[in-house]
Order: sequence, then C-alpha cells, then structure tokens
Amino acid sequence: MTLLTRREFLAAGLGGFPFFWRKRSLALAGMRFRIVRRGRSDRRYLWIHGDERTARDVLLEHLKTARGTAYLTTSLERTFPLLGGRIDPNRMFSRAGAAKNLRALNPQWTAAQLDAALNRLDRDRERFLRAILPPPGGLLIALHNNARGYSVRDEVPISDRVSLADPDHPNNFMLVTDPADFERLARSSFNVVLQNTAPIDDDGSLSRLAARRGVRYLNIETRLGDAKSQREILKFVTELPR
Ligand SMILES: [Zn+2]
Repeated sequence: MTLLTRREFLAAGLGGFPFFWRKRSLALAGMRFRIVRRGRSDRRYLWIHGDERTARDVLLEHLKTARGTAYLTTSLERTFPLLGGRIDPNRMFSRAGAAKNLRALNPQWTAAQLDAALNRLDRDRERFLRAILPPPGGLLIALHNNARGYSVRDEVPISDRVSLADPDHPNNFMLVTDPADFERLARSSFNVVLQNTAPIDDDGSLSRLAARRGVRYLNIETRLGDAKSQREILKFVTELPR
C-alpha cells in the first residue's frame, strides 16, 4: 500500500475526515433510520412510526434552527418488515415486549421463527441504543401522533405522576421519565405524565427502556395533523434547562 502525502490526501477529498466517517443512517435488524445532524448538542430526536407524518414534518422544520441529532424511520408504515414478518419498532426495546408484539402481528409464525427474530433484535439492540440514547445529562425527545383514540387517559393509570392542565385536548400530552422535567412541565399549560419507575408489564417501548435505565426521555404525543400543537410543545420543551 502506498502512503499518501498530505497533498494527495487532501486532493482525494479525505481531508474532511470528520465528516466522511459519520454515518448517514443506522439500522437495527434491517430496520433503517436516517440520521440528521445539526451542530453539536446533547439533544437527540427520534421519529419512529412512519405513518405519523405530522411528527416528521414538525421535527424536520424544528431542525432548521435547533441543534441536535435526529433519527428518522425510513419506513412509510407504522411497522417494519422483520424476517418475513412485521414488528412495531416501538415494541422492540425489550425481548418480552417484542415477543408479545411479534406474536400479535405474525400469528402464523412458529416458535422457531419467533425465536430467530427475537435473537436478531437482541444481537443488534445495544449498538442501536448506543447511537440514539443521549450522553449523560442529554435529553432524548421522541415525537408521535395519534389518530385512533389513544390519549393521555390511557397513560394516567400506569403513571407515577400526572398533570392535566389541558383536559380538553387529551390527545396532546407529554410523557417524561425525569422528575425534574415533570416539575417544570407540570407548571405549563400542557398535559404531562411522569413514568420513572420500572414497569411490571414491560411493553417493549422506548419510554419503558428509558425509565428502566434512568435516561432523560420525553415523548411529545399530539393528534395526527395537529402540527400547530406539536410545534408549540416542541418549542416549549427546547427551552428546558440542560
Ligand atoms: Zn407513534
């Protein structure tokens, strides 16, 4: 192998190495996420359900001015293909939660097929989490939309603390894992629930994983199509202290 001179190295376009090695996408068991980076920040953003387009639009618009790294699903549907079946990506964050979801979505699967899919998820999960989870002190913000009646009322019975400042809009709320964030947000005009204790029934969602690992996590859930509310909440959340 020939050693490149500095001039050749730069001419080859490798002088910009801090950029070329940075990946533009990330995958877990074949499920691909596009990475959008804006400056240096310990803020992470995740858009995980491909059918929740309002959340994607609001997030991409937000990143025109805000700093942070965003991970966006490349699926156009809610679920991802996995080994000939399908999975809800927000149920893949624990083996137990993924098993329940895979059984429901792929009733024709044999026990061996189910095991193969769960093993594949187990093998890739930590590498994926190392990328998307924020550094200590950082914050992970997930954006979701609902259209099928899901609302804060479904979360109230399984939450540690609840503040319903906007009871007329139960579809618009935040779910947080950090008690200090809850304190601040409970003084806002938005609905917020705190879930910071390890759940008895782990559904495999990212919020449950974040609670279990003590990760500072915040989920902004608004009605599909209500970009105005989601934008407003995201702007408010961005001003939370670091
Ligand atoms: Zn969702």
